[in-house]
Amino acid sequence: MAHPKAGEPLESWCTKCREMKPHVVVSVNDEERPARVLCDVCTGEHNYRPSPPQSRRSSLGRKTTVKKKVGVELTEAQKGKARPYELDGVFREGEVIHHPTFGFGAVTEIRSPQRMMVEFDTYEKQLVFNMNATST
Ligand SMILES: [Zn+2]
Repeated sequence: MAHPKAGEPLESWCTKCREMKPHVVVSVNDEERPARVLCDVCTGEHNYRPSPPQSRRSSLGRKTTVKKKVGVELTEAQKGKARPYELDGVFREGEVIHHPTFGFGAVTEIRSPQRMMVEFDTYEKQLVFNMNATST
Protein backbone atom coordinates (compact mmCIF):
# COMPACT_ATOMS: atom_id res chain seq x y z
CA MET A 1 0.00 0.00 0.00
CA ALA A 2 1.41 3.31 -1.08
CA HIS A 3 1.64 6.02 1.50
CA PRO A 4 -0.07 9.31 0.81
CA LYS A 5 2.21 11.93 -0.69
CA ALA A 6 2.31 15.60 0.11
CA GLY A 7 -0.93 17.27 -0.91
CA GLU A 8 -2.93 14.08 -0.65
CA PRO A 9 -5.81 13.62 1.80
CA LEU A 10 -5.67 11.28 4.73
CA GLU A 11 -7.36 10.72 8.01
CA SER A 12 -5.41 11.83 11.06
CA TRP A 13 -5.94 12.61 14.68
CA CYS A 14 -6.19 16.37 14.98
CA THR A 15 -4.43 17.77 18.01
CA LYS A 16 -6.65 20.84 17.95
CA CYS A 17 -10.06 19.31 17.14
CA ARG A 18 -9.23 16.36 19.35
CA GLU A 19 -10.94 14.05 16.88
CA MET A 20 -10.12 11.97 13.84
CA LYS A 21 -10.47 14.43 10.97
CA PRO A 22 -9.68 14.55 7.28
CA HIS A 23 -6.26 16.09 6.76
CA VAL A 24 -3.96 16.89 3.88
CA VAL A 25 -0.37 15.72 3.92
CA VAL A 26 2.00 18.66 4.19
CA SER A 27 5.25 16.77 4.24
CA VAL A 28 6.50 13.21 4.40
CA ASN A 29 9.46 11.83 6.29
CA ASP A 30 12.45 9.88 5.02
CA GLU A 31 10.39 6.70 5.00
CA GLU A 32 7.80 8.44 2.84
CA ARG A 33 5.29 8.29 5.60
CA PRO A 34 3.21 11.38 6.37
CA ALA A 35 5.06 13.62 8.81
CA ARG A 36 3.18 16.89 8.94
CA VAL A 37 -0.50 17.19 8.13
CA LEU A 38 -2.95 20.03 7.73
CA CYS A 39 -6.43 19.71 9.23
CA ASP A 40 -9.31 20.29 6.83
CA VAL A 41 -11.49 21.42 9.66
CA CYS A 42 -9.39 23.81 11.73
CA THR A 43 -6.57 24.29 9.18
CA GLY A 44 -4.09 23.58 11.94
CA GLU A 45 -0.78 22.00 10.97
CA HIS A 46 0.67 19.33 13.21
CA ASN A 47 2.42 15.98 13.24
CA TYR A 48 0.59 13.09 11.65
CA ARG A 49 -1.09 10.83 14.18
CA PRO A 50 -2.72 7.76 12.68
CA SER A 51 -4.75 7.08 15.79
CA PRO A 52 -6.03 8.91 18.85
CA PRO A 53 -3.57 9.31 21.71
CA GLN A 54 -3.65 6.53 24.26
CA SER A 55 -5.52 8.51 26.81
CA ARG A 56 -8.39 6.15 27.13
CA ARG A 57 -7.45 4.39 30.30
CA SER A 58 -9.75 1.55 30.93
CA SER A 59 -10.84 1.48 34.49
CA LEU A 60 -12.01 -2.07 34.05
CA GLY A 61 -8.54 -3.49 33.76
CA ARG A 62 -7.28 -1.69 36.79
CA LYS A 63 -6.08 -3.97 39.46
CA THR A 64 -7.07 -3.21 42.95
CA THR A 65 -4.28 -3.73 45.40
CA VAL A 66 -4.90 -7.01 47.06
CA LYS A 67 -4.20 -6.84 50.73
CA LYS A 68 -3.68 -10.00 52.60
CA LYS A 69 -7.05 -10.66 54.00
CA VAL A 70 -6.99 -11.15 57.70
CA GLY A 71 -9.89 -12.86 59.27
CA VAL A 72 -12.06 -15.77 58.37
CA GLU A 73 -15.67 -16.12 57.53
CA LEU A 74 -17.01 -19.29 58.98
CA THR A 75 -20.14 -20.98 57.88
CA GLU A 76 -22.80 -21.93 60.37
CA ALA A 77 -21.90 -25.56 59.78
CA GLN A 78 -18.29 -24.85 60.70
CA LYS A 79 -19.36 -22.97 63.78
CA GLY A 80 -21.57 -25.87 64.75
CA LYS A 81 -18.53 -28.15 64.74
CA ALA A 82 -16.35 -25.68 66.58
CA ARG A 83 -14.58 -27.03 69.60
CA PRO A 84 -14.44 -24.88 72.70
CA TYR A 85 -11.02 -23.41 73.19
CA GLU A 86 -9.27 -24.74 76.25
CA LEU A 87 -5.79 -24.15 77.52
CA ASP A 88 -5.18 -27.85 77.81
CA GLY A 89 -6.93 -28.77 74.60
CA VAL A 90 -5.07 -30.11 71.61
CA PHE A 91 -5.92 -28.50 68.30
CA ARG A 92 -4.94 -29.10 64.72
CA GLU A 93 -4.43 -26.80 61.78
CA GLY A 94 -7.69 -26.02 60.05
CA GLU A 95 -9.77 -26.77 63.08
CA VAL A 96 -12.54 -24.37 64.04
CA ILE A 97 -12.60 -23.33 67.64
CA HIS A 98 -14.75 -21.18 69.84
CA HIS A 99 -12.92 -18.91 72.22
CA PRO A 100 -14.86 -17.54 75.20
CA THR A 101 -13.54 -14.02 74.57
CA PHE A 102 -12.68 -13.86 70.87
CA GLY A 103 -15.46 -15.97 69.47
CA PHE A 104 -15.18 -18.36 66.56
CA GLY A 105 -11.86 -18.79 64.83
CA ALA A 106 -9.94 -21.13 62.62
CA VAL A 107 -6.54 -22.53 63.48
CA THR A 108 -4.28 -21.36 60.68
CA GLU A 109 -0.91 -22.48 61.88
CA ILE A 110 0.62 -24.64 64.56
CA ARG A 111 3.78 -22.80 65.46
CA SER A 112 5.03 -25.03 68.22
CA PRO A 113 3.57 -27.84 70.28
CA GLN A 114 1.93 -25.23 72.44
CA ARG A 115 1.51 -22.19 70.22
CA MET A 116 -0.98 -21.79 67.44
CA MET A 117 -2.17 -18.95 65.26
CA VAL A 118 -5.90 -18.56 65.17
CA GLU A 119 -7.75 -16.33 62.76
CA PHE A 120 -10.89 -14.78 64.11
CA ASP A 121 -13.34 -12.81 62.04
CA THR A 122 -11.18 -9.69 61.74
CA TYR A 123 -7.86 -10.45 63.31
CA GLU A 124 -5.30 -13.11 64.00
CA LYS A 125 -4.10 -14.11 67.41
CA GLN A 126 -1.53 -16.42 68.83
CA LEU A 127 -2.97 -18.70 71.44
CA VAL A 128 -1.44 -21.25 73.69
CA PHE A 129 -2.82 -24.72 73.87
CA ASN A 130 -1.88 -28.21 74.95
CA MET A 131 -0.75 -26.82 78.30
CA ASN A 132 -1.04 -30.18 80.00
CA ALA A 133 1.85 -31.50 78.00
CA THR A 134 4.43 -29.77 80.20
CA SER A 135 2.73 -30.12 83.53
CA THR A 136 3.82 -33.24 85.27
ZN1 LIG B 1 -8.41 20.15 13.31
